[in-house]
Amino acid sequence: MAGQEANHCYCGDRSKIWTSWTDNNPGRRFYGCPNNKANGSCGYFNWLDPPICLRLKRIVPKLLRRIEGYRARERIYWVALVISWVITIGVVLIYLSKKKGLRNGGRVLFLS
Ligand SMILES: [Zn+2]
Repeated sequence: MAGQEANHCYCGDRSKIWTSWTDNNPGRRFYGCPNNKANGSCGYFNWLDPPICLRLKRIVPKLLRRIEGYRARERIYWVALVISWVITIGVVLIYLSKKKGLRNGGRVLFLS
C-alpha cells in the first residue's frame, strides 16, 4: 500500500488483525479497519500472512466443518442430559411426595 503504514488504516487508526475463515483463506490473518461497517469502516485491507498452500485450503475447511458437526452434536447431548436430569428429579419428587402421602395417610388412618 503506497504511503500507507501496514498497521494503520485509511482512517488513521491502528488497524486490527483479523482472521479469515473463508474456504480460500482459512486461518489467514489480515490487517483491517478497527471500525465495523456500522461505525464507518474505511475498508482498509492488507494480508498479514502469506497465501495458504493448496493442501491447507483443502484440509482446513473440512476440519472446520467437522468441528462444527461435533459442536452441534455436543449441544444435542447437553439438551438430552438436562432433560434426563429434569425427568430424574421429577420422578424422585413424585416418589417422595407419594411416600410422604402414604405416611400421612397412615397417620390419618391411625388417628381415625
Ligand atoms: Zn479505517
